[in-house]
Amino acid sequence: MLAFSPAAQRMFGFKARDIIGENISLLMPSPHAKNHDGYLDKYLTTGKKNIIGIGREVTARKKNGTLFPVELSVGTLTRRGERLFTGFLRDLTTHRISENQIADLQNELIQLARHSAMGELATTLAHELNQPLTAIANYTLATRKLVADMQSDEQAKTALDFLDKSAGQAQRAGEIIRSIRTFVKHHENKFRWENLEDAVCEAVKIASIGTGNCPIDVQINKQAPVPDICMDRIQIQQVVINLVRNAVDAVRTQEGAHAINIKISRHGTRSVIVRVLDNGPGITLEVEKRLFEPFNTSKPDGVGVGLAISKTIITSHNGDIRGRNRKKRGAEFYFILPIDSKAEEISS
Ligand code: ADP
Repeated sequence: MLAFSPAAQRMFGFKARDIIGENISLLMPSPHAKNHDGYLDKYLTTGKKNIIGIGREVTARKKNGTLFPVELSVGTLTRRGERLFTGFLRDLTTHRISENQIADLQNELIQLARHSAMGELATTLAHELNQPLTAIANYTLATRKLVADMQSDEQAKTALDFLDKSAGQAQRAGEIIRSIRTFVKHHENKFRWENLEDAVCEAVKIASIGTGNCPIDVQINKQAPVPDICMDRIQIQQVVINLVRNAVDAVRTQEGAHAINIKISRHGTRSVIVRVLDNGPGITLEVEKRLFEPFNTSKPDGVGVGLAISKTIITSHNGDIRGRNRKKRGAEFYFILPIDSKAEEISS
């Protein structure tokens, strides 16, 4: 090194007098420190630019050994026949910290929204569970009576049938509770290769708790099967639940036959699309103007965060979410997800 600016001295904790004359690799962590001279030789012989004139984020090392992120750009010049390099560095530590804080906050917010959605579902859940639990009690009581005065094979068969039914109902109650618990459980962002159709169907099941006779139909395009998607399953399910619950709220404001359709299909070669269509009154003009903005609601007891959170989730998947009114009647909300936007993060 021939020169070391005062700002560089503050950044690295080295005095210029200690460092001038040393090899630049002193400021890099291994393995770059070890390989640095090789990189330079390679550039000088091949002229192939890896970093020079391009700039990129790298890790630097302070005098005390601490590693920190920097944006580095390198320029080159010739002075009296000698080739010189100048490095410009920007310390990205605070930038990174705030980036992480924003990501944490976002995750907290998404978590919070999940809890509040579940709060609403909890009341309907109690009602929904009541039915299978009463059925279990009834079947068990009847079986006890049957077994008590068992006389024929026929009665034994009926007893077994009741016991099967009772076990089936208990299983159903268990499944409802389990799916809710998995959904609400605190979880870190987890991108994995997932079967989108399964995830959507499971979410629709949760969303349809307590919707009674409102038919919700999921259509999967068998001709063009949807491949596995690199996604955070719980968060994508959260989006589906928001959209389906909104569709249910919308159709319920009207008399007549209710219809909610969910369609999953490929979208071009590298993405998939999930559409939620309803035959409700459609999106009002007032709400449409700020559709995905927080606290935008037309419902007397609405909070107006469902769509905003859904947008945050889909954006973090590098996807797109939109809503519009259908030609004849009702609204359509859809989101598009790239198949492998986070694949690199998973494999790294
Ligand atoms: P909330 O459900 O608490 O109002 P959302 O962010 O989920 O919050 O929705 C915002 C608003 O968007 C709703 O209040 C409603 O006016 C409108 N909206 C969402 N989905 C539909 C739909 N399927 N049909 C008509 N309007 C809808």
